[in-house]
Amino acid sequence: MVKAVVGANWGDEGKGKITDMLAEKADIIIRFQGGANAGHTIVNNYGKFALHTLPSGVFYDHTTSIIGNGVALNIPVLMNEIKSITDRNVPMPKILISDRCQIVMPYHILFDQYEEERLAGKSFGSTKSGIAPFYSDKYAKIGFQVSQLFDEEVLKEKVERVCALKNVLLEHLYHKPAIDPAELLETLHQYRDMVAPYVCDVSAFLDKAIKEGKEILLEGQLGTLKDPDHGIYPMVTSSSTLAGYGAIGAGLPPYEIKQIVTVCKAYSSAVGAGAFVTEILDEAEADELRRRGGDGGEYGATTGRPRRMGWFDCVASKYGCRMQGTTDVAFTVLDVLGYLDEIPVCTGYEIDGKVTDEFPVTRLLEKAKPVIEKLPGWKCEIRGIKEYDDLPKECRDYVEFIEEKIGYPITMVSNGPGRNDIIYRKSKFSK
Ligand code: GDP
Repeated sequence: MVKAVVGANWGDEGKGKITDMLAEKADIIIRFQGGANAGHTIVNNYGKFALHTLPSGVFYDHTTSIIGNGVALNIPVLMNEIKSITDRNVPMPKILISDRCQIVMPYHILFDQYEEERLAGKSFGSTKSGIAPFYSDKYAKIGFQVSQLFDEEVLKEKVERVCALKNVLLEHLYHKPAIDPAELLETLHQYRDMVAPYVCDVSAFLDKAIKEGKEILLEGQLGTLKDPDHGIYPMVTSSSTLAGYGAIGAGLPPYEIKQIVTVCKAYSSAVGAGAFVTEILDEAEADELRRRGGDGGEYGATTGRPRRMGWFDCVASKYGCRMQGTTDVAFTVLDVLGYLDEIPVCTGYEIDGKVTDEFPVTRLLEKAKPVIEKLPGWKCEIRGIKEYDDLPKECRDYVEFIEEKIGYPITMVSNGPGRNDIIYRKSKFSK
């Protein structure tokens, strides 16, 4: 059976923890989109890890971890990541990389930086990992596929052709040093040697695995609102963050995805620029939630940037769940809210004097003001609780109020960062 774990919002919902948890019963975990620009934080018996490219199943020795064709593969970053976990006594994971995966080139990272410099204050808040230049090149059909590293003739011709193009931009648009094709070719030879042990025809591997009844997890990065089509364009990422794309970015039939676990955090956080309707504007109030949030504060796993903080947004989350095709909501980081006397929740957007609970296009989103309802807090620690009925009433009311508003079944409640900090519950919304 194929399951997907994806985000409902802007990312950082706790997908890493949920994937790591579900991976215990999985055979294969696949990253199907995105690159090393965002990270998952995972806490387990080996310690605390920030993963950027590796799927969150690498800590189990019974799983195969796959980098699917939809991923922006930064080869040196991946190699360092493998080393960083094996250096800390995690057994060498079984890793496969799709032969159709494309490579983040050193110049993609430079172009990302140069473009941010050129845009100065008007930038999109890029993490400068080369992701946007990478996907632009992929769709402009000048990207490098892993398989091409193994054909010297193809590689040499392509390096020369692409360098000629890139060097025009470097010279005339950015006024930066040109790329030396011979040097680039040498770098690609090193990349080839690094990935060679892992390269695989992933879709054929998965076809066989599905036929054998293996348990397969698709692991999404970021969330619905960062999807290039259905998110807050242009403040989005460059590859689709939706479960539906899992079929494409991994190479398996869409109808095989039977369960879609959409991860929703009990409050909101976002990174980068863009409309963020429920943002907490009082700096002290935001900072308190930021410091208490997640596991050790809401700061970027890759960049260390403080995240923007907000209250739970039912409008964005309902939409976020709908676009994912949610079968189950995993509601995370609920324990963090235990300090609040009352908890604001956004139940609607007021746009041009009208209240709506449908998430609008960016042009209208920018005008939206949150309609806030306040729910009573539970004022106690809920970590360690294992049964839903043992949660304080106010806490259950908070979960059920949100479930009612979003209309998707909250079947998992996460009350701590660890693998076992999870409460399963039955929902009337389950099909
Ligand atoms: P991801 O990118 O969606 O995997 O999310 P991140 O890893 O960036 O952020 C989630 C953070 O919250 C991590 O530090 C997790 O360890 C932590 N986390 C996940 N679930 C819970 C939870 O239920 N409670 C607490 N306190 N922290 C959690």
